[in-house]
Amino acid sequence: MFLLSNGYCILNCFKKRAASEDADELAGLSEAKTKNLPPSTGQKIRKFKHGFRPFGRNIHGKPHMSHKNIKQGNNCNISINNLEMAEGRRKRLQELVKKNGNNICAECGKKNPEWGSYNIGVFICTSCAGFHRNLGAHISKVKSIILDNWDADLLNTMEEVGNLKAQAKYEVHFPACYRRPCPTDPDVLKEQFIRAKYEREEFIHVDRQVYTTGFMEGYLWKRGKEDGRFQQRKFVLSESEGTLKYYVKESHKEPKAKIEISKLNMTFCPKKVGNPNGAQLTYVREGSTRNIFVYSSNGSAIVDWYMAIRSVKLNKLRIAYPGTSEIELAQFLTRDFLKEGWMFKTGPRSSDAYKWRWFTLDDRKLMYLEDPLDPYPKGEIFLGYHADGFAVKKGVPPGMKEQGYGFTLRTRDRIFLFGVQKDEDRIEWMKVLQSVIERPLTPQDNSMAANLVRKRSTIRHFIY
Ligand SMILES: [Zn+2]
Repeated sequence: MFLLSNGYCILNCFKKRAASEDADELAGLSEAKTKNLPPSTGQKIRKFKHGFRPFGRNIHGKPHMSHKNIKQGNNCNISINNLEMAEGRRKRLQELVKKNGNNICAECGKKNPEWGSYNIGVFICTSCAGFHRNLGAHISKVKSIILDNWDADLLNTMEEVGNLKAQAKYEVHFPACYRRPCPTDPDVLKEQFIRAKYEREEFIHVDRQVYTTGFMEGYLWKRGKEDGRFQQRKFVLSESEGTLKYYVKESHKEPKAKIEISKLNMTFCPKKVGNPNGAQLTYVREGSTRNIFVYSSNGSAIVDWYMAIRSVKLNKLRIAYPGTSEIELAQFLTRDFLKEGWMFKTGPRSSDAYKWRWFTLDDRKLMYLEDPLDPYPKGEIFLGYHADGFAVKKGVPPGMKEQGYGFTLRTRDRIFLFGVQKDEDRIEWMKVLQSVIERPLTPQDNSMAANLVRKRSTIRHFIY
């Protein structure tokens, strides 16, 4: 009865529509032509551009009956039952997503996931649902918890599996060096983690973890120090040598640079490099931080390099600190910058002008550069402990010029004056700098301070 009445309605609706459309349009067009009536005189057809009514609209410009209208109108009881069942399943789903493990995204840990992969059986956030969809429906099928309808079979899968069981299955051999993504991480880290987990199944098959072998060789696009152009360069990572080397030409026997792994850091910076797979390598050389900007043409390659560097570092730390757990050691493998952005900075004399500089806060090191992609910073400020005379204050000392929203950083050597364009920026910078100087120094911090050479003594870094 339901189908019959529905079918009948749809058929009739289409028939009527086709008939009335033709008639109206012909009549409208011909009348409009012959009488040349202005639109206000009520020729309905003239409401529509070029005399043609948009699809799905009746002559009054209102929508035609849709399947939905028809269903609701003719089958109230069945629809109410369906609605009740759907509502019941929705409630069950909402209960499931509150359960321990399901209440955070199975991939990035974001709270309150709004999507589910119903063949894998995991609850995920909106951003990770996009990456799941990129895998293709043969690997993951996603549905919205809020907007989509879930039938009983799908719900059963979600109930049987869930985030904790899926993790136990897909991450059974999760390597300690691998960085698990968090919600604020760049897309490349999140997407490649999801691909590694379900597409390549790297955490099930240990032999697929190319980054844990202690050796990696391949090509990356590297930004030229002099001309700023990206060129392909061969990179070689060797755990036995403890180095990362790169070569200008394949035929060259000597590398252009040989970087000690213990001094190397890598972080993702897609925006700065202008490529979704962009990253920055940094190390201290002759008292200066050297920045190397790279990217790879595919996301998996850059993430493999990142994890390979982490793996070599972890193995070195394991030997140096045999009593410390891997989880603890894994916190010291790579660092993300605490904050980056543009600020005004002035010199030490009251007559000095403010200059617009790019700042990077890397742990206790505040670097400033003319251009975010400069190979060397113009200057590097070591941030010590507040009890040793380091302080951050709003505004500038009396008699000094303030640029925008100013603040002062006091170090042991001198006072630095900064300015930003918004008060929110000032609050953020002051907060993060304050948190650094409130942290007591570690032996590693002291050695970093000793390694940094004061820049004002050299022409290259003379900025005022
Ligand atoms: Zn997520």
